[in-house]
Amino acid sequence: MKKRAIGIDLGGTTLSVGLVTSDGTVEKIRKQSLIHKDVSSIVNFITTEVQVLLAETSSDLEGVGIGVPGIVNSEQGIVFQSPHFPTWRDIPIKRLLSEKIQCPITLDNDANMFALGEQRFGAGRACRNFIMLTLGSGIGCGLVLEGKLFRGDRGFAGEVGHMVIEPDGPPCHCGSRGCWELYAASHAFRHLSGEKNLTPENMALLAEKGDKVALKLWEEFGRYLGMGIHSLISVLGVTRIIIAGGILGGWDYFFDAAKKEMVSRAYAENAKQLVLQKSELGNNGGVIGAASSVLITRLLA
Ligand SMILES: [Zn+2]
Repeated sequence: MKKRAIGIDLGGTTLSVGLVTSDGTVEKIRKQSLIHKDVSSIVNFITTEVQVLLAETSSDLEGVGIGVPGIVNSEQGIVFQSPHFPTWRDIPIKRLLSEKIQCPITLDNDANMFALGEQRFGAGRACRNFIMLTLGSGIGCGLVLEGKLFRGDRGFAGEVGHMVIEPDGPPCHCGSRGCWELYAASHAFRHLSGEKNLTPENMALLAEKGDKVALKLWEEFGRYLGMGIHSLISVLGVTRIIIAGGILGGWDYFFDAAKKEMVSRAYAENAKQLVLQKSELGNNGGVIGAASSVLITRLLA
């Protein structure tokens, strides 16, 4: 009999809760808009959504895995802080949920969860090392090194969106300025063009129609993306980079520029090995990864 777990992806505006089998199939998924962002509202919302999903299934559940954007201490079950929930500080989410949901719970950064999903069921299968980048309003990063997630001290690894790429660039919410995610995530088009209303969605539509300005901006976006990836490759010596997130709608318009930048800056010997590819799990990758974190933990228990 297949084992099942619930995977939860807590985004800035949407909560996704899915029932996932041990072969990575999403049997059911619910996506709801977040209205209130305080801790107790989120905990109650997650609890209700899990209960609704459980009521619809008769199978045994191995547990619930939750991916949260921001700096997460997986071992202690604490969210130190999150860009989408600015008032949160040192929130013991795992304990709060354990008081309401009676099954094993795992908690991790959302990009780490995505990386686990790709490692088990997607583009990272059989890869000893890879870098997972989730491009949304910021840049999330999951590092799989020597076959395992690398979280760093207290979960602070992978804050790559705040590498400085333009020393005199615009201010960032982190307190620095000119951070990579201002140029290679969804707010990039505002910073690259100076126009406030440009989004990846409308830029992809314009690019599809052959709009030269939009195509040029996607090329710039790709260039900055490739530049940052080059820095990560230089530090880690990893050759496979997997990209996910809402920005993939522009993949055809930024891929060539990103790859060119990444390859042209690399050591010639390493350049031949570099692989830049899309996520294979798509929109449900965060949910699949969060569920697989439970299934992996239970299999190893
Ligand atoms: Zn920053």
